[in-house]
Amino acid sequence: MRIGVPKEIKNHEYRVGLTPTSVRELTNFGHEVFIETNAGMGIDFSDEDYARVGATIVGDAKEVFAKSDMIVKVKEPQASEIALLEERHTLFTYLHLAADMPQTEGLMKSGATCIAYETVTGQPGGLPLLKPMSEVAGRMSIQAGAHYLEKEQGGRGVLLGGVPGVNPGKVVILGGGVAGVNAAMMATGQRADVTIFDISNEKMAELDLHFGSTIKTQFSTVEAIQREIAEAHLVIGAVLVPGDAAPKLVTRDMLKTMKRGSVIVDIAIDQGGCFETSKPTTHDDPVYEVDGIIHYCVANMPGAVARTSTFALNNATLPHVIRLANLGATEAMARDPNLANGLNVSEGKIRHKAVATALALPY
Ligand code: NAD
Repeated sequence: MRIGVPKEIKNHEYRVGLTPTSVRELTNFGHEVFIETNAGMGIDFSDEDYARVGATIVGDAKEVFAKSDMIVKVKEPQASEIALLEERHTLFTYLHLAADMPQTEGLMKSGATCIAYETVTGQPGGLPLLKPMSEVAGRMSIQAGAHYLEKEQGGRGVLLGGVPGVNPGKVVILGGGVAGVNAAMMATGQRADVTIFDISNEKMAELDLHFGSTIKTQFSTVEAIQREIAEAHLVIGAVLVPGDAAPKLVTRDMLKTMKRGSVIVDIAIDQGGCFETSKPTTHDDPVYEVDGIIHYCVANMPGAVARTSTFALNNATLPHVIRLANLGATEAMARDPNLANGLNVSEGKIRHKAVATALALPY
């Protein structure tokens, strides 16, 4: 198959659909890979790196789309990319169509087969192509939080790990799923005092077994959250209610009880955030302050560590890319129901029930 990778054009997006290592796997199978010039430049993959593993470097996105049958990307296609999509194309990338009518209409009009990373399911369940980004965001949240706790950044001047004779900082994590667990790994690694809240008793039992005495778990109630955040230096928002907005677990009134200069990192901001005072920020201007509390609410945290994120994403997507290339989209999805769950749009129609419901379009 002929596979194309355009340079990502969304603002501040440095990730790339395929690493040179992934390209090597595909060329080994005899596939042709077309990479737009400088596609990996932002994370130090040069055109030569790609050429060395058998890719053909082409001048612009137009040429990538013209030469390829399958397009592998990271972010949803922008208007200029949608205009290049044709019926013969398979598009494999994050789409997030449920809140994006213009993109959905554009993809339907193209007639292309559009498979979304975020709805591909796994064995025995879960969303394996979303998981790596939650892992990245969870781990990054402690790094970002520790940074903004520094006095020079406006923080309380607290070192998460403490030192001999001085207590460690107190970290509260709301939601013990993928992002929460990864935040807890980093926080315990730094020797912080860590409490994780969840509403799932099974989840808390798993956390208890996994972390032992290095963390405490708490059932998520208003009273318990109120009590713990009043003592916290860093609060991480990592809840998810699938298909719904994040619940507002910390109200403005509760925020007022927190210590001045403490930090919240609301990872769940892409679902509206779990603090009443959260609003999305960007890597250009990541924080703001409300009632003396620093809010970090970057909606695409993995973008800041684009190189790590690209490798992590490729580890999850590559097996599917190989199958799609070897078998073609129709046969690959027929053989793998989990991959088939990724199909969002084809032949001008919505093929994913939740997407159709969210946009009130026929399914
Ligand atoms: P997950 O499903 O693995 O975990 C969510 C956890 O929240 C579950 O354990 C669930 O039981 C728990 N939960 C639900 N309601 C709760 C409540 N009221 N109180 C306490 N816990 C509750 O989800 P995840 O993969 O860890 O993702 C978490 C969030 O992070 C999602 O909104 C995801 O979209 C977001 N995310 C953001 C970024 C970013 O850059 N900002 C990156 C990746 C993921």
